[in-house]
Amino acid sequence: DLAMYQAKLRGRGRYAVYESGMHQGAVAQFRLAAALQTAVAAEAITLAYQPIADLHTGVVVGLEALARWSDPELGDVPPSAFIPVAEQTGLIQELGGQVIVRACGDAARWRVATGSDAYVSVNVSPLQLDDDEFPGFVVAALRIHDLDPTSLVLEVTEGLLLQERSLETLRDIRAHGVRVAIDDFGTGYSSLSRLRELPVDMVKVDQAFVSSVESTGADPSFLQAIIRLAETMHLVTIAEGIETTTQLGELQATACAYGQGYLLARPGPIDGIPAALTAISDAPPHDR
Ligand code: C2E
Ligand code: MG
Ligand code: MG
Ligand code: MG
Repeated sequence: DLAMYQAKLRGRGRYAVYESGMHQGAVAQFRLAAALQTAVAAEAITLAYQPIADLHTGVVVGLEALARWSDPELGDVPPSAFIPVAEQTGLIQELGGQVIVRACGDAARWRVATGSDAYVSVNVSPLQLDDDEFPGFVVAALRIHDLDPTSLVLEVTEGLLLQERSLETLRDIRAHGVRVAIDDFGTGYSSLSRLRELPVDMVKVDQAFVSSVESTGADPSFLQAIIRLAETMHLVTIAEGIETTTQLGELQATACAYGQGYLLARPGPIDGIPAALTAISDAPPHDR
């Protein structure tokens, strides 16, 4: 009967995995996918938050939600390892949905506790945007937690923006008041003419450009050019991966409004995050 047939197919699949000479990498991916499915079903993916601060005052303007997974057998698995697996196996819609709902709830509580009006910034996969019910879902998640749409930012990477269907979803979401940021700006594939037409509000300047600023004699003109370009497009700029005071100083001098990075705060539990970061407000005034 059908159940026996399905069991036979499953048995065959298992046989194929171990006997067809697939190397260990593929077996590891298979185990990772199975464990991830269990974790998503149990809602065991948690969130760390990294503050995004005003680079002149230290005031926290946003919190980026970053997915975390600690598996009993596999240990801590970084998002760079499990997000692609979630995308390949079709788990990303469910995982991404859980992240949005949880991030809205956490942000709502944190805002009440601290008196801050910072937004929460959530990374979304291109596959989540390939769904015309997504904007309605996002609006419902905000409403459940009594959050204004301006309290949410969705982070998307440039590559996916080339698909018209994704652009349509972003326009729909922005029409509700939710803002959109281009993540890892400067590393994607968009042409400058294309960038002008994208339905976005903010750019997150990739860490690669921030870390190119070194202590002695480095040329910061490339970083400056990217920030000026974003300014020209009337986009808010956020620098990613600020690790040194030299980098912070350069960004302040270049009038980059906002930033995040290990120098300011590492990602961590939301409860420990203050409404303003002393790492910036204690810093000596910079020269322009
Ligand atoms: P991202 O969105 O560009 O996030 C920034 C990454 O840089 C995070 O890594 C963060 O922990 C790390 N970071 C922050 N400050 C510094 C710094 O000063 N130095 C260095 N070296 N790194 C810093 P993480 O948490 O491992 O996330 C990696 C990527 O995984 C994210 O890059 C994002 O693309 C993806 N991701 C994370 N959570 C989610 C999620 O819920 N959904 C989706 N679709 N993707 C996610
Ligand atoms: Mg991001
Ligand atoms: Mg990024
Ligand atoms: Mg990145």
